[in-house]
Amino acid sequence: MVLKISYNEKEMELLRFWKDNKIFEKSIEQRSKDNPYVFYDGPPFATGLPHYGHILSFVTKDVFPRYWTMKGYRCERRWGWDCHGLPIESICERALNLKQKNEIYEMGVSEFNEFCRSKVLWYTNEWKKTVDRMGKWIDFDNSYKTMDNTYMETVWYIFAKIYTEEFIYRGKKVLFYCPRCETPLSNFEIAMDNSYRDVTEQSITVKFKLKDEPKTYLLAWTTTPWTLIGNVALAVNSERKYVKIKIDDEFLIIIENQLDTIKHNYEILDEFKGKVLINREYEPLYQISTDTDKRGHFVIDGGDDVLFDEGTGVIHLAIYGEFDYEMIKKYDLPIIQHIDEHGNLTEGPRDWIGMWFKDLDEKVLEDLKDRDLLFELEVYTHSYPFCYRCDTPLIYNALDAWFINIQQIKTRLLETNEKIKWYPKEISRRYESIINTAPDWCISRNRFWATAMPIWECKECTQIKVVGSVNELRENAIEDLPDNLDLHRHIVDKIHIKCSNCGEVMNRVPEVFDCWLESGSMPYAAKHYPFENVDWFKHNFPSDFVSEYIGQVRAWFYYMHVISVLLFDEIPFKNVVVNGNILAEDGTKMSKSKRNFPDPNLMIEKYGADALRIYLLSSQLMRAQDLNFKEEIVKQVYRRFNLLLINVLKFYLLIDIDNITMDIEDPDNILDQWIVSSLNILIRDITQLMDDYDTAEVSRLFFNFIEDLSTWYIKNSRNRFKSEKVNEKISAMNTLSYILYNLSKLLAPLTPFISEMIFQKLAEKGIVNLKSVHLEFWPEFDEKLIDSEVLKNMQLTREVVKRSLELRDNSKIPVRQVLNKVTLKGLNLEKKYLDIIVEAINVRNIYIEKGEVAEFSIELDTNITPELKLEGIARNLIRHLNNYRKQLNLSTKNRINLYFKTEDSEIAEAFKNHEEKIKKMIQADTIIQNLEDKQDIKKFKIENKVVEAYIEVKSKLKIKEEK
Ligand SMILES: [Zn+2]
Ligand SMILES: [Zn+2]
Repeated sequence: MVLKISYNEKEMELLRFWKDNKIFEKSIEQRSKDNPYVFYDGPPFATGLPHYGHILSFVTKDVFPRYWTMKGYRCERRWGWDCHGLPIESICERALNLKQKNEIYEMGVSEFNEFCRSKVLWYTNEWKKTVDRMGKWIDFDNSYKTMDNTYMETVWYIFAKIYTEEFIYRGKKVLFYCPRCETPLSNFEIAMDNSYRDVTEQSITVKFKLKDEPKTYLLAWTTTPWTLIGNVALAVNSERKYVKIKIDDEFLIIIENQLDTIKHNYEILDEFKGKVLINREYEPLYQISTDTDKRGHFVIDGGDDVLFDEGTGVIHLAIYGEFDYEMIKKYDLPIIQHIDEHGNLTEGPRDWIGMWFKDLDEKVLEDLKDRDLLFELEVYTHSYPFCYRCDTPLIYNALDAWFINIQQIKTRLLETNEKIKWYPKEISRRYESIINTAPDWCISRNRFWATAMPIWECKECTQIKVVGSVNELRENAIEDLPDNLDLHRHIVDKIHIKCSNCGEVMNRVPEVFDCWLESGSMPYAAKHYPFENVDWFKHNFPSDFVSEYIGQVRAWFYYMHVISVLLFDEIPFKNVVVNGNILAEDGTKMSKSKRNFPDPNLMIEKYGADALRIYLLSSQLMRAQDLNFKEEIVKQVYRRFNLLLINVLKFYLLIDIDNITMDIEDPDNILDQWIVSSLNILIRDITQLMDDYDTAEVSRLFFNFIEDLSTWYIKNSRNRFKSEKVNEKISAMNTLSYILYNLSKLLAPLTPFISEMIFQKLAEKGIVNLKSVHLEFWPEFDEKLIDSEVLKNMQLTREVVKRSLELRDNSKIPVRQVLNKVTLKGLNLEKKYLDIIVEAINVRNIYIEKGEVAEFSIELDTNITPELKLEGIARNLIRHLNNYRKQLNLSTKNRINLYFKTEDSEIAEAFKNHEEKIKKMIQADTIIQNLEDKQDIKKFKIENKVVEAYIEVKSKLKIKEEK
């Protein structure tokens, strides 16, 4: 028996075997360094426990390295950790109960950073457990970390290089900004985690009083009343029609299209194009002191960006919007930032100074109402972005920042993308449009725990010095540096450089790097290139394969691509497999608090890692589509794949016979020929599909093949496996050995456990020499072994059997009841196929009626004669008696004597008439109708008639003991 222990335990046993025997290490060492298949494992954050999304990526990233290793390539795999950035900072802030950024300064950046360092690898053991248990092979203990000094030094090198080549600029840019985390967020970060939510707020229409026309106001509409304090201008569309209306004794100006939104009675006095309003001045709602003498508070032309189907056709401009900032630059308007980096008011009505920006909405609203400047108040639902870390509503903010000029390399990004093979293909188009619309990349962050930006700036003359290595810093630093310099902010901020221009002291700028710059530098930084491994790098770049979920298309994949184009004008990876998202069964996001998904550990315990692996690999996730996780399907996969295979293996192991080989040279049995042909087609197709990174289709072919093997080949070959003719038995077993051996190799990348189980059983029989299937080479198909004639005829044979069984089913005659004859019309099959049909549908005779018909037909004689009935009973007896043998754990070599007793004359007659056949089928030497003195009698029923039986085993010796 294969499985005395649970499936889970068996898998665990194999994990120990692989570890004890260093099979993973050997699988790499045995391949030449000159023939690498390069794989980059993207670094995850270790700030939470691994979930299904991670498990999916473990599996995808394991399959292809295993496959290419078997194809003869050396595939080194090294784990990595993303250690920096907001995820870990947020956790530490919470742990330290820090509410605001300045509390970090109060605590000390050193203390805070060291606390982050101590927490960042908190969950690594949990990750290791899951990675191991899923059968993912990777060098885990020797992992690279983005906080390693060597890693950070490479990031410095990269930055210095692209700075020197003038791809970097310092600018002000309006970015989404979290006033709680006090850092800008990139559009990618916002889009990636879908941070937009519908919010319902009060929108207001306010009145701006024109200076040159008495009692006349422009109506402007906004959903963010707090921004009105910092208003600098109003924008209209100069080509659209506006109207002046009279309500009571006031004159109001609005775009004509939106007149129907006015709820008061009005009278139209005038209409004119927007251009009439351009340059006219109005009274600001709030007095703000600015230190520039730039002109503000007049009407500008906003062009077509001023929509005419929303609002009033008059846009209020402050710095807190992308369009606004564009207009501010275009018309050289004053920059008014009345909210500080904490989100509090710094300019405006004195009583409100220090208030949180969102609380100002209500204040502004009441104030304008009091001053009769509020025209309309409405409830308005719109989608608004929130910080994905702390859930604070984001604001636009114009900040000092460092950028990589993406516009300058866009063409090269697009051109080189043509060389990348995306799976699925259609992602390539999507990626193209991501590149097309990409803004410049803001690579600076106003945070703490990350690689410090290596930029020093002179206090006196603002000269900039960018440092590209620790040695360069050592040569330029005023202070003496320790040997193993840490490149985090709290250390390097204490280092100063003497200005080469004016001789003054230079300080490091306060920013740190965006952690995407770090993970995008992984191909170089993980190996401390170019400070080390220059030669290795030549053979290991670009990578052959990367894989992540779809959210990383615009993140890790994109950033890696940008950096490799900047450094080498080259793609960083050749093949990229993109996974979809795993959702809860009801299609919503998996959520720990809602408990809407089964614990992954429990799934593994119940069905094994292999079942989970092939469930994921066979799904639409591998075509970048989302999947609702269903335990029921995992269970079905377990039955249809794992259990079916295990049953095949059990059957194989039950046949006791020596001298089995995998010799299938010229098998003369038609079923052997068919399964050998099918296997070679399987090898051919799976190889092609694996080359195409299509595991969904690969899995489908496996499911089909295993079903064919179990329910057609083995089912119809049972007599040969149990045959007393040694040659017949050996040739069937040789064929099955050959099939199982090749199948174990084909399955090894997808389901490493069950393939190893099969392989080790073959090894026990002395059929294979190696210790593990994972040290084997990938099988090659043999065209000569594919007999298309056999495949075609067997297809027909199966069709005949299927339809005949349907006919039986319709007339409610069980298969065990032998029938007299079947007649096939319009079909020509050789005798060897007809023999299979006769056995499979249990008829005595088969007749062929030839003739010209479009489609063949089947006639089944369903008349059951007394003689046929006895034969049916005999079959039934054989089945029951073989079950009995099975319960006694007898092998086919155990001969028996059978004793029985029955009151039913028909059953007794069946025993008598079919004695020879029964004897043969149950390996009995004698059948005796007498049960006297017998203990442990077995009882069973045939058509409700009782049969009692006793098996006397002639030789208790089992095959192994005989040896
Ligand atoms: Zn935040
Ligand atoms: Zn200077």
